[in-house]
Amino acid sequence: MWPPRVSRLQLRQLLGGADDDCDDVDGSNSQASSQSLSPTMRDSFDAWLRERALKDARAFARRYQAKLGVEAAGIRVGDQQRAWGTCGKDKVVRINWRLIQAPAVAMEYVVAHELCHLVERHHGPGFWAKLGEAMPDWRERKAALESWEQAHLAV
Ligand SMILES: [Zn+2]
Repeated sequence: MWPPRVSRLQLRQLLGGADDDCDDVDGSNSQASSQSLSPTMRDSFDAWLRERALKDARAFARRYQAKLGVEAAGIRVGDQQRAWGTCGKDKVVRINWRLIQAPAVAMEYVVAHELCHLVERHHGPGFWAKLGEAMPDWRERKAALESWEQAHLAV
């Protein structure tokens, strides 16, 4: 079990936002609860967290693009409400910026998972085999993501 990188209080303050995109790695339906920060403070805190999330996602992407032999058209952070990450037909990988709250291994898993979709569009045996080559301990990371999700988002 890994500790979250941002406190639970901060997390509660940050939950919120809505969005679109198709779901892939499941996220939860987190509803807004950020009353304790003024809108301006919340916006700049969010912007800072998003910036950090993007930096981490890009660093992980560099590592796993090399391992998988793929290249995304772009790595972005998004606000998907029901997905931790998506890989569009445009080959752009979008990572939910709220993962900055999760253990780093969890975000790393989501990044590798989405990059793997550049090779294997669907979750067939080929997909998991490919992911396993680049990230042998993906099951453990997936479990870390799920337990973090339950502990911190199912509030
Ligand atoms: Zn997937």
